[in-house]
Amino acid sequence: MGLFGSDTYYCTVCGTEADDSNAEQCTQCGSVTHHKCFKDTSNAKVEDNLITSDDVVLRCPDCGHVGEV
Ligand SMILES: [Zn+2]
Ligand SMILES: [Zn+2]
Repeated sequence: MGLFGSDTYYCTVCGTEADDSNAEQCTQCGSVTHHKCFKDTSNAKVEDNLITSDDVVLRCPDCGHVGEV
């Protein structure tokens, strides 16, 4: 069951096409971000203690909402 409809979404981080097989949509603001782009942005936030080496927290790059897959 996909989270997204039939529209094309674009990753808010890298700007390329995204779909529900490789991306998540923020439940708060609706921004779509690739899984790999979440990791890229999360890696820059390690000092916030939200991230450990084994646990990736999905933090929306647009609104800062933290969610889970
Ligand atoms: Zn991306
Ligand atoms: Zn958001």
